[in-house]
Amino acid sequence: MEGITSEETDFVRAVHVWVEKEVRPVVRELEHANTYPGDLIDAMKDMGIFGLAVPEAYGGLPVSTTCYSLITEELARGWMSLSGAMGGHSVVCKLIGEFGTRAQRDAYLPRLATGELRATMALTEPGGGSDLQALRTHARRTDVGYVVNGSKTWITNARRSGLLALLVKTDPSASPAHRGISILLAEQGPGMEVSRDLPKLGYKGVESCEVRLDDYRAPADSVLGGVEGVGFAQMMKGLEIGRIQVASRALGVGRAAFEEALKYAQERETFGKPIWKHQSIGNYLADMATSLTAARQLVHFAARKFDAGERADMEAGMAKLFASETALQIATSALRIHGGYGYSTEFDVERYFRDAPLMIVGEGTNEIQRNVIVSQLISRGGMD
Ligand SMILES: Cc1cc2nc3c(=O)[nH]c(=O)nc-3n(C[C@H](O)[C@H](O)[C@H](O)COP(=O)(O)OP(=O)(O)OC[C@H]3O[C@@H](n4cnc5c(N)ncnc54)[C@H](O)[C@@H]3O)c2cc1C
Repeated sequence: MEGITSEETDFVRAVHVWVEKEVRPVVRELEHANTYPGDLIDAMKDMGIFGLAVPEAYGGLPVSTTCYSLITEELARGWMSLSGAMGGHSVVCKLIGEFGTRAQRDAYLPRLATGELRATMALTEPGGGSDLQALRTHARRTDVGYVVNGSKTWITNARRSGLLALLVKTDPSASPAHRGISILLAEQGPGMEVSRDLPKLGYKGVESCEVRLDDYRAPADSVLGGVEGVGFAQMMKGLEIGRIQVASRALGVGRAAFEEALKYAQERETFGKPIWKHQSIGNYLADMATSLTAARQLVHFAARKFDAGERADMEAGMAKLFASETALQIATSALRIHGGYGYSTEFDVERYFRDAPLMIVGEGTNEIQRNVIVSQLISRGGMD
């Protein structure tokens, strides 16, 4: 494995072995029963996976972003839902580590590192997820802290997260609107209700919920970093790692679909020969492997930029855009290669076909990624 230390390589291998032994044998049953994978999540906690984005001083097991991407890929190769269960959590850890006050880091990071406390991001609202500056959840400042009213939707792990990075308007009249946006570190409590679990195509076992805030009270010192009006910029930085994570999930789903198609194409025979020898099927496999390899290069390029401390929104956007479109393409080809069995719930390829589209939508749709990429191309004066 290029670009990571030998300790990191061992970590990625250990996750790979765990996925093979513990995840793959049970995933189909958990998926189709839509069962929360409590034992698997506990094992991920034990392996330190919830602490990957927490500094060592707070009990974390920090790794390079390339290693983080590879671990995410391994988890998603086994079951995309497992990689989703740690994605938003890692973004919140990064946000607190980078922007949090000393008191916020001390209060949350040690428990986030072990997974004892789980966290999620709450950005999207019923009125929209792409136009975040138009969000309506309002945190009104009073003498005793904030009173929050509004609603969020599609919040991953909302039932099991004790902490939400809640994107709110602290100044609804600010112009430009982003100057009125803040992140509240909001703990579950009275006035915050997880009101509904949303039914969905894939991403089973992990809940996606509506969250209602009805006179929810948050302490005055719950604003991330202690400063109002900078939450939008903080979240945009957090989304760089979030988009690299979603791109890595896409690599995992794409790789799983490709590996199964490659195996099946050698086992299944028609017209007296293995189907890979039919040129159309062979071409699918060649295209799948080529685009997967290109996607991985792009994701690791974004990871290196992020670790270099450089602005990486364009690179993370490119990685997320290309890797997710690639995963959907590969999942579709894998389904085609499996013929009728590709449509069967007794095979895994149908799950990849249902899971892949999430990466096109989540962490900012691919239409939004293209907007980010082109605006950076203009402001950076083209590509480096
Ligand atoms: C399973 C799942 C889990 C999720 N988890 C979370 C979570 O944990 N936390 C969270 O906050 N959110 C989460 N989301 C929400 C997700 O981030 C949003 O769905 C996404 O950002 C799109 O927002 P929207 O659904 O409101 O679509 P809209 O913003 O209404 O967009 C609708 C369509 O219009 C396009 N569009 C909108 N504006 C533009 C534009 N300016 N240019 C070009 N095209 C545009 C979009 O690309 C899309 O095709 C999750 C979503 C899903 C499905």
